[in-house]
Amino acid sequence: MSWDPRQRAMLEAMGLRVWARAAEPEPQPEMAPPAAGPIEKRAVAPPVEQRVVAPVVSADASARAQAIARMDWPELRESVAACRACGLCESRKNTVFGVGHENADWMVIGEAPGAQEDLQGEPFVGDAGKLLDNMLRAIGLSRAEGTPEKQVFIANTLKCRPPSNRNPEPAELAQCEPYLLRQIELVQPRIILAMGRFAVQSLLRSSEAIGRLRGRVHEVQGVPVIVTYHPAYLLRNMPDKALAWDDLCLAQEVHDAAGTKS
Ligand code: URA
Repeated sequence: MSWDPRQRAMLEAMGLRVWARAAEPEPQPEMAPPAAGPIEKRAVAPPVEQRVVAPVVSADASARAQAIARMDWPELRESVAACRACGLCESRKNTVFGVGHENADWMVIGEAPGAQEDLQGEPFVGDAGKLLDNMLRAIGLSRAEGTPEKQVFIANTLKCRPPSNRNPEPAELAQCEPYLLRQIELVQPRIILAMGRFAVQSLLRSSEAIGRLRGRVHEVQGVPVIVTYHPAYLLRNMPDKALAWDDLCLAQEVHDAAGTKS
């Protein structure tokens, strides 16, 4: 693959030297980078073979989800801050609601707060967050300020830190899901970037590996979703940054093809 000067500059902003790409094995067909050129039609991923079994929803849980689905931003923030729906409320220091523009074009969805996020109440503030900020900057986006076109909204599937950063449990993901779905409805993004296994499990109900889901356009609540590696994974697997770059390019193409927000 050859890079033009602008792409080289962006790759370097993500901490990736261009020559690193050449040392990698050729991607397998299902991980092939997106074809160049505009996307004519939003391609929705075909049904995936492996499905995460949807949690059984009790009448109470369903009423709670319906109540959350009617909340406005202040109510949602208050509800998350006061949430005691699962055991994570016992060990959290802060809930981590999300950050960014409430009408952002781009929504980035990660997994769960870590130690720093728990302390500061903001998503992605540790090393993975720095990489995420660099990745966003490489395509002209920021979490901090800007118009809805330039300032993203970042949220996690879980709003509370699992102790010792253990994996989220299905029941915890199920209790937190209505919050994330309501955030998506309120933001009405033009594109969602789902980062990492648990974001994908929650949003797409798929247990397939990221490598098999990336490179295609999925859909949640009518919003196109691009799957990519979690920044924490990329910190440990530097060569895969090139694949994450391909995912960002695909997300940008899909975003641009989606037209303006009504
Ligand atoms: N990893 C995530 O997925 N989210 C955070 O907020 C921090 C690390």
